[in-house]
Amino acid sequence: MTLLSQPPVCCIAPPDLLRAVAEGGSPEEREIALATLATAETARAQRVSVTGALRQLSLTIADAAPAPGKVRSIYDVEHGGYYDLPGRKVRAEGDADTADAAVNEAYANSGVTYDFFREVFQRDGIDGRGMEMVSSVHYDIDYDNAAWTGLQMIYGDGSGTVFRKGSLTRALDVVGHELTHGITQYTAQLVYNRQSGALNESFSDVFGSLVKQYSLRQTADQADWLIGDGMLGSSLQGVALRSMKAPGTAWTVPGGGKDNQPGHMDDYADLPDHEDNGGVHINSGIPNHAFYLAATAMGGHAWERAGRIWYETLTRRLHARATFAEAAEATVAEAGRLFGADGEERKHVRAAWQQVGVI
Ligand SMILES: [Zn+2]
Repeated sequence: MTLLSQPPVCCIAPPDLLRAVAEGGSPEEREIALATLATAETARAQRVSVTGALRQLSLTIADAAPAPGKVRSIYDVEHGGYYDLPGRKVRAEGDADTADAAVNEAYANSGVTYDFFREVFQRDGIDGRGMEMVSSVHYDIDYDNAAWTGLQMIYGDGSGTVFRKGSLTRALDVVGHELTHGITQYTAQLVYNRQSGALNESFSDVFGSLVKQYSLRQTADQADWLIGDGMLGSSLQGVALRSMKAPGTAWTVPGGGKDNQPGHMDDYADLPDHEDNGGVHINSGIPNHAFYLAATAMGGHAWERAGRIWYETLTRRLHARATFAEAAEATVAEAGRLFGADGEERKHVRAAWQQVGVI
């Protein structure tokens, strides 16, 4: 098994959203948002010291069960933190529902995500070889985030203020987003910083949305193209965490900040590394919108053509520090390989990246 020296912590919640709640909200809301921000930072800092032990644990589990196929394991970390992962095992593959909705949702949604990649792209799980999908629910206390740690998925309960309670495991696109971070780790290994990091985030949003569309059998025209619809808690107004259709319009904090994802390179946020790893959750709006434009121009089921092009690009064509322009050229080339150099798919992909100002 290949191990990375510095696997990322890839969270669903953009730090600018948490900061906006902290700055615009009531004292209580401020406290809740700051707590999630601080925990995310702590988790990142602690990674270095605990990843060794965690890897050993994970490798032991993985080596003991090498059989390919859908293998889900759900743990309850019982409101513990990073050092307590993965927690107590509460549901194994094939086990019946438990009394805990978070456990059942993490189990069901990781299964739907596995089935999507298997049925649509013939991919056997995170590493393509049936790697066990480990999820820990009830992470921390009222934690407003979900993440792929480099080894497993973790889900907070949500405070009700930033995110609705229970919404993080309930949202299929959030689960699909986190699991895709695992696939990226085993394929393109996109470095979680600046443009390659924003691509890493964008591929997770693309396949998170496609999992949702596939489960609903929606066409590109019918899809909402939102990430985390219905999740926003009492301190936020809007529809979701991010909009691929209209980046920058998903949420606002009354009296405070707003979703500031760009949908065009003219508005690219050139942020320092210490701000959201150079804006990975912000600038992902640009490749997100390119995918939306390509998929809606092609019409039909987005996973069949646009999704196929993006999947093959992620798993076969990108290097770890790929830029937006390199990703754009790679998708154009892949569209030509899959559907013909003169096919409409290649034209639509090129036009989409041109519309967002990348090429
Ligand atoms: Zn992410």
